[in-house]
Amino acid sequence: MVDFGDTPEQAEWRNVVQAFIDDKLPRELQDDQKFAGSLGGMHRGPLGNKQRVEIMKDWRKEILDRGWIAPAWPKEYGGADMGVMDQFIMKEVFNENRAPTISVHDVGSTILVHGSEELKKQHLNDLVNGDVAWCQGYSEPGSGSDLASVQTRGVRDGDDFVINGQKIWTSGAKYADWMFALVRTDPEAPKHRGITYLLLSMETPGLTVRPMEQITGATSFNEVFFEDVRVPVSNAVGEVNRGWYVGATHLDFERSSIGSAVGFQHRFDDLLDFIKSESSEVNGRTNLKRSEVTRQRLAQCQIDIAVARNFSYRIITLQDKGIIANYESSVQKLFSSELHQRLANTGLHGIGLHAMLYDEDDVRTPERARWGTYYLATVSETIGAGTSEIQRNIIATRGLSLPRG
Ligand SMILES: Cc1cc2nc3c(=O)[nH]c(=O)nc-3n(C[C@H](O)[C@H](O)[C@H](O)COP(=O)(O)OP(=O)(O)OC[C@H]3O[C@@H](n4cnc5c(N)ncnc54)[C@H](O)[C@@H]3O)c2cc1C
Repeated sequence: MVDFGDTPEQAEWRNVVQAFIDDKLPRELQDDQKFAGSLGGMHRGPLGNKQRVEIMKDWRKEILDRGWIAPAWPKEYGGADMGVMDQFIMKEVFNENRAPTISVHDVGSTILVHGSEELKKQHLNDLVNGDVAWCQGYSEPGSGSDLASVQTRGVRDGDDFVINGQKIWTSGAKYADWMFALVRTDPEAPKHRGITYLLLSMETPGLTVRPMEQITGATSFNEVFFEDVRVPVSNAVGEVNRGWYVGATHLDFERSSIGSAVGFQHRFDDLLDFIKSESSEVNGRTNLKRSEVTRQRLAQCQIDIAVARNFSYRIITLQDKGIIANYESSVQKLFSSELHQRLANTGLHGIGLHAMLYDEDDVRTPERARWGTYYLATVSETIGAGTSEIQRNIIATRGLSLPRG
């Protein structure tokens, strides 16, 4: 029989994490967290961006001091050598308490698996300390889903590659200190075999960043242009021309996000509370809260959240055995991102037209505009880190061994 209960040791660990949160988590941050992530890069919680940033600094330090930012990593790189199940429990307790989790950028795990000792020493501690911001240079104007067709060229010149080309949709490039990029270093080789995974400083001469505005008004995307940008060959993670496989490991880490179901449950519970409450009667109208369709949608969302949670257990079980989840990460990413959209849509539908109001401080705006903005923000989730169609292709080919079309 499947038993999802804790062992005595796991229950003890759960108590330790809970005690930490009870002791250290500022109440105002917990309240503010309800609105986190609602605008894809912007924040509309009652604390406001500036105050939140200040409080988050102290919260970060508490987590950092315990090695919990990269709990799986060795202690020498600022981690806690923590086992997979304990990490999962920790993440669950954080999410259950609406405690912001602070994690290390996935590039760190990729460097840990494939990088040279020099690159580990150079980057891993900075990553954990949060001293350095990273961005991902994968997509190009002609290479998104077909990522292996990247055209940005790196030509060997002595101990350097000289890079020319363009990246696009590079999240956070405007503020980043470093980039990890896929660069074509052997144009003669079959397309998956001539790519190198390179680390490069955003300060390198010849590199230009141009921000792009998106639907929510935020400018988290950028174009990045390379004109004779010189990067040492020693900045390659893994072997030169084998970067496709290094980049794939990175995406497996990125897609396997396992804590999302608990966050969805919170969002769902908030919606349920709101829909049941008197305050959902905006301007004397009850909107759609008693409609049959809303009830049906809410019931379906609750089922789907339970399914997403079970996918998390599947991935965590694989990781516990030392296996990097592969097509299973695609199942998780696909299901969770589409569920998040359904949940946002259900919120919008259940609350009714007032959910479209955009000014969070207007008294007529329900829930500080969070549902309308979730709806906009979740659009991108089925595109970033590989579209839903690409995840289905991966599941079909790698998971079901169906032939490629
Ligand atoms: C929020 C967000 C953050 C992002 N951040 C970054 C980042 O930091 N760095 C970065 O490099 N990129 C980033 N991206 C870009 C993202 O990786 C690409 O948008 C994505 O891979 C799709 O590529 P594309 O936009 O070129 O679309 P295309 O590849 O042109 O696809 C267009 C449509 O065709 C479909 N399609 C394409 N090929 C197939 C196929 N073989 N089978 C079935 N359908 C197919 C797609 O599913 C899609 O619907 C981000 C995107 C988003 C939304």
